[in-house]
Amino acid sequence: MSQSLLADASVRLEQALKYVSISDDAFSRLKYPKASLSVSIPVRMDDGSLRIFQGYRVRYDDTRGPGKGGVRYHPSVSLDEVQSLAFWMTFKCALLNLPFGGAKGGITVNPKELSRAELERLSRGYIEAIADFIGTDVDILAPDVYTNEMIMGWMMDQYSIIRRRISPGVVTGKPLTMGGSQGRDTATATGAFHVMNTVLPKFGQIPEKTTIAVQGFGNAGAQIAQLLNKAGYKVVAVSDSQGGIYASQGLDIPSIRQYKQNHLTVTGVYCKDSVCNIIDHEVITNEQLLTLDVDVLIPAALEKQITEKNAHDVKAKYIFEVANGPITSSADAILNTKGIHVFPDILVNAGGVTVSYLEWVQNRNGLYWSLTEVQERLKVRMIEETEVVWRISQEFGVNMRTSAYINALNRLNEAMSAKGTRDYYQGI
Ligand code: NAD
Repeated sequence: MSQSLLADASVRLEQALKYVSISDDAFSRLKYPKASLSVSIPVRMDDGSLRIFQGYRVRYDDTRGPGKGGVRYHPSVSLDEVQSLAFWMTFKCALLNLPFGGAKGGITVNPKELSRAELERLSRGYIEAIADFIGTDVDILAPDVYTNEMIMGWMMDQYSIIRRRISPGVVTGKPLTMGGSQGRDTATATGAFHVMNTVLPKFGQIPEKTTIAVQGFGNAGAQIAQLLNKAGYKVVAVSDSQGGIYASQGLDIPSIRQYKQNHLTVTGVYCKDSVCNIIDHEVITNEQLLTLDVDVLIPAALEKQITEKNAHDVKAKYIFEVANGPITSSADAILNTKGIHVFPDILVNAGGVTVSYLEWVQNRNGLYWSLTEVQERLKVRMIEETEVVWRISQEFGVNMRTSAYINALNRLNEAMSAKGTRDYYQGI
């Protein structure tokens, strides 16, 4: 999976390269990760045995600033996958004009099989193993798949123990009481909401007349559904790994969130609880959700959900990628031919890394902002950068994904060229 993720990302890059003249030096540098670390982490298990876990940290590029990227705990984590994700982060940070390079980390583990104490020992062991590779001004960690606030807290604490000084800026996504930022928990959805509110009016799409389907009802999906619902958009379908529900007149998102919290699934929401049968609805599969006749489709679950197999059946006019990599490059080509507007992950879900940046700034300054201040800074940044991507897409007549890559590539090229290129040294 990981190799093809990188291959897929590279296809998008090649399309953008047609519109950008980047130096040979920058191109060569972007082909390879700057540094990759592979570590083994010994962990004493609760039964007294010793297990060795495989962990990675990759700094893909740090020309624009210290590496920035999450840490993933998953059985499929490999060095290739971590390199691909670090490559992606390089472009995302450049696109949002954050003073960061791209990095990523991971441990090959199924965290659900570990006790809480084992998980803590593993997380602290990971930091022991990579401590010389990371740092507030070197490479900054964050949560990703199956890592959370508490794990970030353990990691920051362990790093501080090793360095013998409190170092909150080495990890973002921490608990508030350990230097976390207000608004970090809702940042991804809020950022996506700003992107949507910026571009949909350009197509004359008004909230009350816009129907939306959201795939994935987790941290990002449930929150974006709620924000859109509150703003007057008509969220007609949502789903999780168990399946989905559809109601043409719109769903009551707060009650679905409440139900999901209590029952861990969205499919039974209108049939089992007190709201039973008060709304005419259908239970649908995830496959059906992706091909519903709606204005907007929001994949907010997993990668590779829209492929060349189902892209022909997609009926939405606009797709906003809240998940990372939900559309394969071959599906992209099909959607493009169908005239479907795709707004890419590196822009749409960048609210998370943007508030991570704000958390890092607060940690370095020791001055903490209110929720309103954080949200205002997030809003300004998301709207500003969305407008830039929109302008480039209009100027070159390209889709928003290519436009996003053009913008990110230009910024990376500028930073790399500022240190001198072949032309500079040859006096051309
Ligand atoms: P999460 O684990 O909180 O939620 C994932 C949701 O997807 C769950 O509701 C799960 O039931 C559902 N799901 C799993 N398999 C599914 C399937 N086959 N069909 C439909 N739904 C399915 O994860 P999250 O944090 O919400 O992340 C979701 C996506 O957004 C991921 O791609 C992640 O990389 C991306 N993302 C999240 C953040 C963030 O801050 N949370 C930031 C950037 C990108």
